[in-house]
Amino acid sequence: MTDFTAFDAAVEAQAGDVLAQLAALCRIPSVSAERGPAMLDAAAFVQTLCTAAGVATEPADQPAGPPIIIGRAGSGERCLMIYNHYDVQPPDPLDEWLSPPFEPQVRDGKLYARGVSDNKGDLVARLAAIRIYQETVGPLPLRVLYVIEGEEEVGSPFLFRFGEEQGTLLSEADGCLWEFGSKNADENPVICLGVKGMAAFDLRVRTATMDAHSGNGGIFPNAAWRLTEALDSLRAPDGRVIIDGLLDHVRQPTEVEERLLESVPFNHVALQASYGFSNGLLGGLTGAAAVRRWLMEPALNVNGLVSGYSGPGSKTVIPAQATAKMDMRLVPELTPQIAFGLLREHLDRRGFSDVEIIDHNDYLMPWRTSPDSAIARAVTASISQVSALPPIVQPTSPGSGPMWELCGRNGVPVASAGVSWQDSHVHAPNESIRIADFVEGIKVIGRLLEQFARDDNE
Ligand SMILES: [Zn+2]
Repeated sequence: MTDFTAFDAAVEAQAGDVLAQLAALCRIPSVSAERGPAMLDAAAFVQTLCTAAGVATEPADQPAGPPIIIGRAGSGERCLMIYNHYDVQPPDPLDEWLSPPFEPQVRDGKLYARGVSDNKGDLVARLAAIRIYQETVGPLPLRVLYVIEGEEEVGSPFLFRFGEEQGTLLSEADGCLWEFGSKNADENPVICLGVKGMAAFDLRVRTATMDAHSGNGGIFPNAAWRLTEALDSLRAPDGRVIIDGLLDHVRQPTEVEERLLESVPFNHVALQASYGFSNGLLGGLTGAAAVRRWLMEPALNVNGLVSGYSGPGSKTVIPAQATAKMDMRLVPELTPQIAFGLLREHLDRRGFSDVEIIDHNDYLMPWRTSPDSAIARAVTASISQVSALPPIVQPTSPGSGPMWELCGRNGVPVASAGVSWQDSHVHAPNESIRIADFVEGIKVIGRLLEQFARDDNE
């Protein structure tokens, strides 16, 4: 068993420098939705960090967009894939940030910046661990295969093709460390073994060729009403998706997953305090029922509604057109194709054939790794060695990512571990990580290199 005393001392001694690297990366406004020159700046910066960590990089062959960086380091029997992304979400609404999103600021033991949690903190912490391991312990005990992309926040459009074309390379990996991870409200680190899938689409209805005077509202069809009536048929007030036949495609949890679900704490009071929900969770869910719905069932979301007049004051009008921007979160074995088919049939059966489904071709498949896999055990063991509280293993994250596209289809098991916390405010204003978690996260990765290299993982 390797002595990590020198490694840990170096992590502590270099923490300020590594944090400064993270701040420098966060200063680059790599908003993938904007497709600006900052994407290439961020990619170049990441390549510099890779080089410093002894990770040899090459850009993947891809037709457009910010480069997918492939990195390799180390030698040995086992191969650990690490997946991260250097792009971030748009920072809006800007006026809710206490410090500007791309001017990282330390306040109260936390570093605030857009992307610091999702996903630049993990990216920098992991590369720092790989570098410091070689400086203090010795050569890497395994092969590391990096995949770092710049379009995760816009649905990883090229990763589907990349995962297919690079199947031979990717299937060399014995396990993958996924991009993110955080502590929960009780301060337990959370390990996720899967992701939900996602399908983004619009529902659109046109009821007339032009808007009309609202005096006719008692007899004229109104697109906004029509759309909301259709929407109402898709989800029960308690949040359950009631599209005909949809839940028949949901894979039931295995026995091991059942046990993991029972161990997932669910602090609905903390969630309520954090988000300021006025009426609690949907359907008054708490405890085990909330965990099950949250992780193991599909969700249907309205992201935005567009219809009629929404300016100041009033305008009396019957809108001719209405659109709902939607996404559906999917769980195994519910694929986007099955979900769209069932949605169409459900709407038609209720006389809503005029409600169009506009498929954005923006899909991610759902996927889950077995809790018995070597990567799940190694991540659990590594966190247990460093963290004050034991980790909680969740069968899946409620979020989505290209896990099947990159790993699942190539037979690579996946687990996540990361440096975020309960109030990291991912995708929202005032995104942050706690500096202590960041330092702890570097130490965890040092152990993981060792744990995953060993065959027994005891
Ligand atoms: Zn994100």
